[in-house]
Amino acid sequence: MEDLVGHHCGLFGIYNAPDAAAKTFLGLFALQHRGQESAGVVVSDGKKIRSKKGMGLVTEVFHERDLAEMPGHMAIGHVRYSTTGSSRLTNVQPLVIDYSHGLIAVAHNGNLVNARTLRDEYEAYGSIFQTSTDSEVIVHLLARPEHSGRKEGIGHCLKLIKGAYSFLFMTRDRLVAARDPQGFRPLVIGRIVTPGQLGTIGEGYVIASETCALDQVGARFDREIEPGEIVTIDADGVRSSKFAKPEEIKPAHCMFEHVYFARPDSRIFGDSVHDVRIALGERLAVEHPAKADVVFSVPDSGNVAAIGFSRKSGITLDTGFIRNHYVGRSFIKPAQIERETVVDMKFNVVRSVVEGKRCVVVEDSLVRGTTFRKQARILRQAGAKEIHLRISCPPIRNPCYYGIDFPDRVQLIANNKSVEEIRDFLGVDSLGFLSVEGLLSAVTQPTKNYCNACWTGKYPVAPVDSMDKYGMESV
Ligand code: 5GP
Ligand code: MG
Repeated sequence: MEDLVGHHCGLFGIYNAPDAAAKTFLGLFALQHRGQESAGVVVSDGKKIRSKKGMGLVTEVFHERDLAEMPGHMAIGHVRYSTTGSSRLTNVQPLVIDYSHGLIAVAHNGNLVNARTLRDEYEAYGSIFQTSTDSEVIVHLLARPEHSGRKEGIGHCLKLIKGAYSFLFMTRDRLVAARDPQGFRPLVIGRIVTPGQLGTIGEGYVIASETCALDQVGARFDREIEPGEIVTIDADGVRSSKFAKPEEIKPAHCMFEHVYFARPDSRIFGDSVHDVRIALGERLAVEHPAKADVVFSVPDSGNVAAIGFSRKSGITLDTGFIRNHYVGRSFIKPAQIERETVVDMKFNVVRSVVEGKRCVVVEDSLVRGTTFRKQARILRQAGAKEIHLRISCPPIRNPCYYGIDFPDRVQLIANNKSVEEIRDFLGVDSLGFLSVEGLLSAVTQPTKNYCNACWTGKYPVAPVDSMDKYGMESV
């Protein structure tokens, strides 16, 4: 049976802006780091819903004329992260489905942990699924007569799904945003001044995965959508309610968003991503000091933590690696080009920075470890005297069920190797991972409000579906 596709993704929605599709294009562009595999925009002018979706980067999918052909004052959009084997146009979001109450568009960020179970159940009763995404389950839930007649509608269906979800829904005249009771993935709301539409005052609303997308369209950050909250925006204004019971709301924000995934110029979970990464780097310098001549990052993911490491240690910060930004993530390598050559294509060493030097290299995380192994080699070739690798998070030993695309457990380098074995494998002089306590010292919310399962194995929401992929039994 085919695995359902989970994903990390970026969401953007806008209400009451005359150029909604163009703004959504811009918002998605700012969220491109959250997904490069596909992009889609669905727009409504209050009567008609139009959509355009495609594989590739936002700028590859949308051209000026597409946006001109998408009139409307409200829109939602989605960018999706690349995962192997799942690249299909039918999976591209937002999904647009015609159900008993009309057209509804859905965009999802996160990964549901009971989607397979629900899907099997519905298929047994004759439901026909069109995609291989976990997200489609919500549409089938909405369409069921016992749910669709209810006043609380979407909120009622959300109670039946488990796992990580930040959702945007759009009908012809309504925008709905919701976040799971753990708030695994970020979701924020802001306001935008617009020339006005629908005869209302010139204020619109923007909902996005990260605040950097609000900045991009000139919207002002208002607040985060809260865990377990559902926000409805239509001609009657904005309404908010909690669909989850108070005792079910247990924040478990993804710490890996802070470590790697989110953009440093965003605020998520109440903190500046940049400031958190600085603190991670500073703490790393305290936990794993090194006698060295220079500090530099593996760009771009290690950049901010390297600044923190340098500040705290007093070791000069420099640029040891140059990254070629023209190797897209969707880059398809010709068969004769080795995986390692792709690393070569992406990074080169600044010889004068590393030659004869004791180098501290700061990297955000090790997943398979293959990238840095190659990077260590090119550093040596460029004359680095010592390499002290510092990782601004603990060893990743466990799969993520909530939307971060880590490989199977067996492929995680820290799953089957000790720190000393990893050091040896990478070919570095010393290796230090940040501790879990160090990680949590960098954020401001109480430590119980974060998900650290990839490091600790403590899963806030039990995975319901059989996790064969991860060599686990269903629970
Ligand atoms: P690896 O150890 O697998 O060779 O590479 C790890 C590096 O990839 C990390 O330092 C981080 O910057 C980046 N990374 C971490 N998580 C992900 C992910 O889910 N997808 C991709 N493409 N890169 C990731
Ligand atoms: Mg990195």
